[in-house]
Amino acid sequence: MQLTPEKLGDLSPQRRERLMARSNEDISSVFDHVRGILADIRARGDQASVDWHKELKADLTPDDFRVDHAEMTKALGQTPKDLLGCLEKAAVNIRAFHAAQMERPMWQMEVAPGIIAGRKTTPLDSAGCYVPGGRAAYPSTALMTILPAVVAGVGRVVVCTPPGEGLQVNPLTLAACHIAGASEIYKLGGPWAIGAMAYGTGVVPKVAKIVGPGNKYVTAAKMQVFGVVDIDSPAGPSEALLLADRTANPRHLALDFLSQVEHDPASAAVLVTDDAQLAQAVCQRINDIYPGMPRRQIMDQGGAYCAVLVADDMDQAIEFTNDYAPEHLQIVTAEPFVTLQRIRHAGSIFMGPWAPVPVGDYASGTNHTLPTGQGAKMFSGLSVDDFLKKPTFQYLTKDGLASLRQTVTTLAEAEGLPIHAMTVRERFND
Ligand code: NAD
Repeated sequence: MQLTPEKLGDLSPQRRERLMARSNEDISSVFDHVRGILADIRARGDQASVDWHKELKADLTPDDFRVDHAEMTKALGQTPKDLLGCLEKAAVNIRAFHAAQMERPMWQMEVAPGIIAGRKTTPLDSAGCYVPGGRAAYPSTALMTILPAVVAGVGRVVVCTPPGEGLQVNPLTLAACHIAGASEIYKLGGPWAIGAMAYGTGVVPKVAKIVGPGNKYVTAAKMQVFGVVDIDSPAGPSEALLLADRTANPRHLALDFLSQVEHDPASAAVLVTDDAQLAQAVCQRINDIYPGMPRRQIMDQGGAYCAVLVADDMDQAIEFTNDYAPEHLQIVTAEPFVTLQRIRHAGSIFMGPWAPVPVGDYASGTNHTLPTGQGAKMFSGLSVDDFLKKPTFQYLTKDGLASLRQTVTTLAEAEGLPIHAMTVRERFND
């Protein structure tokens, strides 16, 4: 990867559009393939999953998908104590931050004399957390998806994570599920996992909502079961935008930039600054250290969605940032809290020189399951809100109903619903 600064104002419309769109992974190309798998699961339940996974284990039966007590005990025993300690420390912060998001369980107000209206907050009965595990293990994603559900009070928190050879799952992922408080864990991945949690298969229960990141097959399956269950926002390849001024350290920014690129060839990293010298210094540093970086096999294929941009001023840099709507936004300016006030669209924001993105990936307490590809313009990252419903209620006195009698009966009749009007009138006929 060789980077040179580009002037933001001089970007061609095509270059700007390519940066904005990022990889824009075409999920629709696997829709038909995934639709077939979901139909098979709906029709044949666990047997469909058994047929697709039987090369992983001889004599596979549906019950083998469930992680039992012995397997969990073995996984906890295999996990080094220091790693367990790190997971527990991260879990403490994630639990605390998500507990603070809980709203009061119920509130009410007198909208007008005799008319009381309110809202209750109730958790979902069940949730399904998909913890990816194809090309890598993601114990941190187990914490980030399970803990908000547990904190919200969801009764049954089901986890699915893909198995490998011998129907084995990474022990650290199992340990993270245990620490976070999952109710039950199934060794099932891809569309089979999503279909099983959406329809219920006998062994895997049907849940109310499925959350968690995954590859294009997982995302296509989640999009197709929406309506049968609720889902969270689509999350694609990881991305970060670094918004910096002359106070930023180019050596730090160079690593912050590359840390996104090591995720995936389709990942995006962009630096926007009003300081041409800083842009030049960051490019120079990246070009110098890149040849010695680990994970070059991924980074060498990437870089298509990377750029170092020089804005005329901070106003132009912030305007670009809001349009880009990054999954991760790093603000390294003289007064990050002042800059923050002008940010409207970002998944999670990292402020100041001491807050690199990986602290939020693992342990500062904020969630790392975040919207990508400009999704931050309309979605928020995962939080307790994903696992709560808020039914409303009302209580009226006789005078309260009398004050609405004319309004409700007139509107009901105007809509051609006379029995609606009668429900009000009849109460005054006694
Ligand atoms: P995955 O668990 O999403 O997918 C693996 C499963 O995909 C396999 O078990 C298999 O069942 C299924 N699959 C593979 N090929 C298939 C095919 N042709 N047809 C049907 N199903 C098929 O794991 P992954 O592939 O490693 O992808 C994980 C993704 O999640 C990565 O892109 C990673 O960057 C992303 N991720 C995002 C976050 C976040 O918070 N945004 C966190 C962790 C991971």
